[in-house]
Amino acid sequence: MVSHHPFSLISQGLAVPSRGRVLLGLCLILVCTAVQSQEIIAHRGYWKIDGSAQNSIDALMKADSIKAYGSEVDIWLSSDGIPVVNHDADVTLDGKKRVVQDTPFATLRKVTLANGEPLPTVEEYLDAFARCTHTKLIIEFKSHRTKEQEDELATKVVDMVNAKGLADKVEYISFSRNLVQQVRTLAPNAPVYYLNGDLPPDALSAMKLSGPDYNLGVFLKNPTWVKEAHDLGQKVNVWTVNRPEDIQKMIDLKVDYITTDEPLLVREMLDKQ
Ligand code: MG
Repeated sequence: MVSHHPFSLISQGLAVPSRGRVLLGLCLILVCTAVQSQEIIAHRGYWKIDGSAQNSIDALMKADSIKAYGSEVDIWLSSDGIPVVNHDADVTLDGKKRVVQDTPFATLRKVTLANGEPLPTVEEYLDAFARCTHTKLIIEFKSHRTKEQEDELATKVVDMVNAKGLADKVEYISFSRNLVQQVRTLAPNAPVYYLNGDLPPDALSAMKLSGPDYNLGVFLKNPTWVKEAHDLGQKVNVWTVNRPEDIQKMIDLKVDYITTDEPLLVREMLDKQ
């Protein structure tokens, strides 16, 4: 096996003629540039097209088909302990609102997404994700009423991700301090980002988190947080950036990940930089 690790290129470079060394240097610059590039995360999948729906399996597969860095998804625990995919705290069934965490899975299953898919379980979502060839899955744990529910959801989902051999392709995010801390303990090597916008980068390092994943307004108010996070070795994610002027501001701020409902627009703007 030939190693392509940049450091092995350096050591090989010492033994080759100067022109070869220059070429290897250029390769290294290319590698470094690629590492520093800004990436796109499709918010609730890539759903803003005919026939799709937010948080559907179809939106996940479409995020993969456009080679987004990541596809984000929101998850809850049903009242009988089944991890399910949904954004809002409630669903509407037969014209009646039901709180997801107070509703058994058999009832939640009757909910149909805008594209005709039944409301998916996390297990089904992960099985579809296993067929993705490019995108990572960015799992957002929603904040629950009790710590017990949050801990049960985190344990079940991290176990499921590990059992399916998907740990290298999954990242976790949450507004809940309890949930990010639980996941940090359950999955010590996984990227875990905090969403709530109320902690500066040094506080996130103290919690051993991967960095801030904040609303764009937070970074507009605290623009130095991006560099502070980078200086601490963190990555920076921002949501939900859809308007061209906001996308440009976040590109200029050098955030690492842009979470958006408009992945193709963000890509077009990144390509022009
Ligand atoms: Mg979300």
